[in-house]
Amino acid sequence: MSLKGKAAVVTGSTSGIGRAVAEAFAAQGCNVMLNGFGEPAAIERLRQEMAAKHGVEVAYNGADMSKPAQIGDLVAKTQATFGSVDILVNNAGIQFTAPVEEFPAEKWDAIIAINLSATFHAIHAALPLMKAKKWGRIINIASTHGLVASAHKVAYVAAKHGIVGLTKVVGIECADTGVTCNAICPGWVLTPLVQAQIEARAKAENIAVEQANRNLLAEKQPQLQFTRPEQIGALAVFLTSDAASNMQGAQLVSDGGWTAQ
Ligand code: NAD
Repeated sequence: MSLKGKAAVVTGSTSGIGRAVAEAFAAQGCNVMLNGFGEPAAIERLRQEMAAKHGVEVAYNGADMSKPAQIGDLVAKTQATFGSVDILVNNAGIQFTAPVEEFPAEKWDAIIAINLSATFHAIHAALPLMKAKKWGRIINIASTHGLVASAHKVAYVAAKHGIVGLTKVVGIECADTGVTCNAICPGWVLTPLVQAQIEARAKAENIAVEQANRNLLAEKQPQLQFTRPEQIGALAVFLTSDAASNMQGAQLVSDGGWTAQ
């Protein structure tokens, strides 16, 4: 089945995994709604380059995913711009690490809002449009931290476990509608979100960044390689294919063996 002419909205697609997912759908001929923060000129350059490279329409909406009204607007603008919302990728996310008793309440609130509640609000807005067309693909970027935990990530782990649960419920509710809802659970992917954690570790342990890189992988990911953003893009495209049309409420793991242990 061709994705040509379908409309994909990818939250948090100005960087990292979301950007690679947006690129992967553009390469399939989808029109893409970008979203996320960043320097306006850089975002405009990204938008133009993606459109020119793949011969598709690429638009941008700067909705703040911590604001439910703006999330509804993002979905409505996608519908108004492209005439449909066929693929929704809930990807925007942030991280903060601290022991639970030192974890600032406002960081908890922000992570739950952006990494968990935003996915509910986006699905809430997009699902009626997908059901009306009897076809839709909802892809939630969860994490290995949706399946297992690590210390100092109380909000992130709670949010990602929430995403896995939410994905199952929506999957069940969408059975027989032509819409599927599945999650992707990446292990370590070298993006700005992880780079910040590596640099913090290098500083705290007084070691080189390359050593902190190796330590990070050795601790969790037996394959000792980062998952690449474009590999997550390819998995997202797979979830929209006919081969995946009977996958519902599932978790697709790409973590170099992290959760196999
Ligand atoms: P990243 O920091 O490179 O990108 C995050 C994106 O989200 C950016 O485009 C940013 O502008 C956007 N964003 C942040 N707050 C936002 C807000 N309030 N409103 C709108 N956009 C917002 O991070 P990444 O590593 O690419 O992470 C993307 C997703 O993948 C996150 O949900 C993350 O939890 C998940 N993930 C990442 C890894 C990893 O190792 N990098 C592993 C598993 C899961």
